[in-house]
Amino acid sequence: MGRRAATLPEVHDLVIRGRLEDIAVTGGLIAAVGPGLGAGTEEIDATGLLVLPGAVDAHVHLNDPGRADWEGFTTGTRALAAGGATCAADMPLNSTPPTVDADGFAAKVAAARGRAHVDFALWGGLVPGDLDRLDALAALGVIGFKAFMCETGIDDFVRATDDVLAAGMARAARLGLPVAVHAEDQDVVGPLAAEAIAGGRTRMRDYLASRPARAEVAAVRRALAIAGETGCALHVVHVSCGESARLVAEARTRGVDATCEVCPHHLVLDDDDAEAIGALAKCGPPLRSASEIEGLWAALEAGEIGSIASDHSPAPPGMKRGDDMFAVWGGIAGAQTTLALTLTHGLARGIAAARLATWLATSPAARFGLAGKGRLEAGADADIVLVETGGPWTIRPEDMEYRHRLTPGHRPGGAHDPARGDDRSRRPGRGRAAGASRARRRRLTAGACCRRRGQAPAGAGRRRITPGARRGTRSRSSRGARCTCRSRRRTCRVPPAPRR
Ligand SMILES: [Zn+2]
Repeated sequence: MGRRAATLPEVHDLVIRGRLEDIAVTGGLIAAVGPGLGAGTEEIDATGLLVLPGAVDAHVHLNDPGRADWEGFTTGTRALAAGGATCAADMPLNSTPPTVDADGFAAKVAAARGRAHVDFALWGGLVPGDLDRLDALAALGVIGFKAFMCETGIDDFVRATDDVLAAGMARAARLGLPVAVHAEDQDVVGPLAAEAIAGGRTRMRDYLASRPARAEVAAVRRALAIAGETGCALHVVHVSCGESARLVAEARTRGVDATCEVCPHHLVLDDDDAEAIGALAKCGPPLRSASEIEGLWAALEAGEIGSIASDHSPAPPGMKRGDDMFAVWGGIAGAQTTLALTLTHGLARGIAAARLATWLATSPAARFGLAGKGRLEAGADADIVLVETGGPWTIRPEDMEYRHRLTPGHRPGGAHDPARGDDRSRRPGRGRAAGASRARRRRLTAGACCRRRGQAPAGAGRRRITPGARRGTRSRSSRGARCTCRSRRRTCRVPPAPRR
C-alpha cells in the first residue's frame, strides 16, 4: 500500500446539480462548474431548470433616504431578490438628499446599512454645480454619473444642459467613469407638454404625443457627440426606440465608447396598453407603438442594445392615480418582474436563455465594473438564479414585495377587467399571464431562495414565475431552502470603482 498523502474529497457548501453540469459553491463563491462535481453539504436538483447568473439591475430608484415612503432599501431590494436580481445599481435621484456629493453618498450608505437584501452599487449625480463633487463621488466608489437631458420631475435633481453635460463628461472621462443619460430633449418635450396642458389635453394619448421618439433621438445624438468630443464613456438609459439604439451602435463603430439599455416595459407594453392601463403605465420616455417594440427587440438581437434594466421607479398609490397624465408620477415599478418578463418574452421569441442572461447580468456587470457579478464560473460570486420554464404565470399584487404593490401588470386591487383590455394580456407577447397554483409556487420557491430573511428570489419562466414568497414564509422542502446567491451579508458593500 502506498503512503501517498491522501486529500480528502472537498465537501462544498452547496452543489447545484444540473443536467449537464453542476455548480459547486463554497464560502459564497462559485468553486467549480463542471460535470459530476463532488458532494455538497446541501444539494439542489436543478435538472430541468434554467440555471442563470443572478440579474444585475443597473437602473433602480430605491428613493431612500428621503422618499422611503415611495420604496426604500428594504422593500426594493427584497423585490429585486424575489425577482431574481442579485445586484443592483441605485440611481442618485429620487432620494433626498440625492447622491450628488459626498454627503449624499454617506446618507445613502447609512440608509442601506443592514437593510439591503442584495448587493448594490451607487450611481452619482451629474447636475449643475461644482465639478469637484464628481471627484469626491468617484473616490467613494460610485460606478458612474447619471444626468438628465430633460426635467426630472424632482426639484433637487436639476437637469444638465449640454454645457453642463460636456463639462461633466470631460471630468468623468478623466476619472475613468461612465456617464449615463436620460435622453429626451427638453426643447422638444417641454413646449409640447406646455401646449397640451394649456389646451386641456391631458389624457394618456396626449402625454404620449408630448414625448415623441424624435425627442429621444435628438438627445441621444447630442449626447453621443459630447461623448465623442470628451472621450467619456456614455450609457444611454432606457432607450425606447430602435433608432436610438442604432445611433449608439453607429457611434461605437466610430470609436465612441457608448452603450445603451432597454427596460422590460418598453419591450412588452405598447401605446394601446398605456391607454388601457392608465396612470400605472406612465413612464418617461413613454410606451411606444408595437412596431417600436419590434425595433427594440431587433436592436437587442443585433447587439445594438447591450443590457436590460428595470428603471424601477415606484411612487405611492396617490401619485399613480388619475386621468391627468401630466400630473401623475412618471415611473414604473419593475424590479421584481424584469428577469421574468425578459425570459418570458425572449424565450417566446426563440432567443436562447444564455443570450437573455447576457443582457440581464453579464453585460451590465462588465460595463459597470461589477467584479464577480454576471457570470457562472469559478471564482465569481455565487449569485445564481434557478428558473422553471413552461406554464402560465401572473403578475399579482399580493406577490409583489414593493412598498406599494403596484405594477402596470395589474390594476390596483388586481381585479380582472376585460372591459379595460385585460384579456389582451393573455395573448403571447403580452406582459401578463395566468398564475401558477399555490402548491406549484411553493415547489418553485424551493429551487432558489434567499436564506437571510426567508425571501425567495426567482423561479421564473417562459410562462410561469414565482415572483416571491410571502414575507416570512421561508420555503421548506426535502431539498431544503437554500440561498444560492451570495447576498447573505446584512451590510451590503458598495463595489469599487470600475477598472478600466
Ligand atoms: Zn430611472
